[in-house]
Amino acid sequence: MTSAIVVGSGPNGLAAALTLAAAGVRVTVIEAADTPGGGTRSSELTLPGLIHDECSGFHPLLLGSAFVQRFGLTDAGLTYRWADAEFTHPLDDGRGATLWRSVDKTASALGRDAAAWHSVFAPLAKRFDAIGKEFLQPMLHVPRHPVSLARFGLRAALPASVLGRRWRTPEARALFGGAAAHALSPFGGVLSSAIGVALTTAAHAYGWPVAEGGTAAIRDAILARAREHGVTIETGRTVRSIDELDADIVMLDTSPSAALQIAGHRMPPRVRRAYGRYRHGPAAFKVDFAVAGGVPWTHEPSRHAGTVHLGGGFEEMAATEKQVTAGRMPERPFVLVGQQYVADGTRSVRDVHPLYAYAHVPAGYTGDATEAIIAQIERFAPGFRERVQATSVRSAADMARHNANYVGGDILTGANTPSQLVFRPRPALDPYATGAPGVYLCSAATPPGAGAHGMCGYNAARSALRHLR
Ligand SMILES: Cc1cc2nc3c(=O)[nH]c(=O)nc-3n(C[C@H](O)[C@H](O)[C@H](O)COP(=O)(O)OP(=O)(O)OC[C@H]3O[C@@H](n4cnc5c(N)ncnc54)[C@H](O)[C@@H]3O)c2cc1C
Repeated sequence: MTSAIVVGSGPNGLAAALTLAAAGVRVTVIEAADTPGGGTRSSELTLPGLIHDECSGFHPLLLGSAFVQRFGLTDAGLTYRWADAEFTHPLDDGRGATLWRSVDKTASALGRDAAAWHSVFAPLAKRFDAIGKEFLQPMLHVPRHPVSLARFGLRAALPASVLGRRWRTPEARALFGGAAAHALSPFGGVLSSAIGVALTTAAHAYGWPVAEGGTAAIRDAILARAREHGVTIETGRTVRSIDELDADIVMLDTSPSAALQIAGHRMPPRVRRAYGRYRHGPAAFKVDFAVAGGVPWTHEPSRHAGTVHLGGGFEEMAATEKQVTAGRMPERPFVLVGQQYVADGTRSVRDVHPLYAYAHVPAGYTGDATEAIIAQIERFAPGFRERVQATSVRSAADMARHNANYVGGDILTGANTPSQLVFRPRPALDPYATGAPGVYLCSAATPPGAGAHGMCGYNAARSALRHLR
């Protein structure tokens, strides 16, 4: 029987394990942390009973993922929950913009930008099943839906600063800018619209759901399926060299630099050089709060939103994202606030709620961004500070300690530069192959990139199975 070892139990490691095991391979997963799941862990970070997502909180790309469609995680205990509003973007004067699942409802609130919002997102949302299938795989492939992909590509290829000019109102521009900021890259770069367009379209097509009971429910559902296929898991062990492992296939759910340390001596020089050149992006600084009575947002719809983007107007976000990428800490950084409890009441204790907030900060940032995060929330929700009952802080350095894949605090496991958006981790027909026989990279450093969708692991496992045949 063919055997495999998966190093790392993030959603991609677990997806790879399950895909291999379902094909009859005997699989063991080895995880450095004491608990499995990588970016899909949840815990009581502030007060007993309050469930906080440690990393991934919202899962718009999970629903359309071929991995999830194949293995049916809802039958394995995963329940999705949606807030009334998918995401909002408050502005300084109490106004703001709201992304509702319905394109019509979203557009009609955007005044003179209604038609422009509709013309960009309605056609994409209608075809998102097909578009998602195309971009959740390596770029170098023969598209099965070329027309839909081309329509998406025309928008995605633009710099966010250029696509942002489609809208004239501060509300519509900010709404798109907040989604574009998820790329953690300057708005002026080629392809810098891609992630914003994908996430906004996904919000209209599927919403931005949370997992009932915490993101760990996604891990638990994949683990339940994996165990049905005989996968075993060992936690608390860091793999340092491939020479410690005895298996036909090794899947590395790690950063390219860790892959180099573990298996570099078996890789051809060109792959070693490529992994050595792989770039990481800016970091996240995260604060979790226990908040009595929720956040008193001045922009009323934000009280009903799963995610709230804080960064002021489009130009302000463009400036702060540029600063962060250049290694400078802005005074008012972009902050993403997660109100998962709005969709999923099981995470709160009576009227005390778990709130998740992270700021974009420079790579390896050593300062304390806690006050900057609180100030950004206070800017749009005066009185927030008085409602905070407890906090839990995870700095950029803590991020990297928590999970070795977050090099320098880079929660996306790789910068979204134009070349790494297209060829991740290196230009190759099979981006999962490392050139070392039987060894594959399967983390978010491979296509389609960051997110708890499992598609990197699923694609990498299918590549390994193709090589076996
Ligand atoms: C604060 C934050 C917010 C996020 N928000 C979202 C979101 O809302 N939606 C979304 O889709 N995504 C989000 N993400 C990103 C998402 O969590 C990651 O892209 C995803 O978890 C990547 O999965 P992975 O399997 O590639 O790696 P990871 O989840 O990073 O897991 C890698 C695992 O490998 C282990 N490991 C590494 N090296 C070794 C070794 N040598 N030996 C043994 N084990 C090892 C690590 O301990 C870790 O458990 C967020 C991430 C963070 C940190």
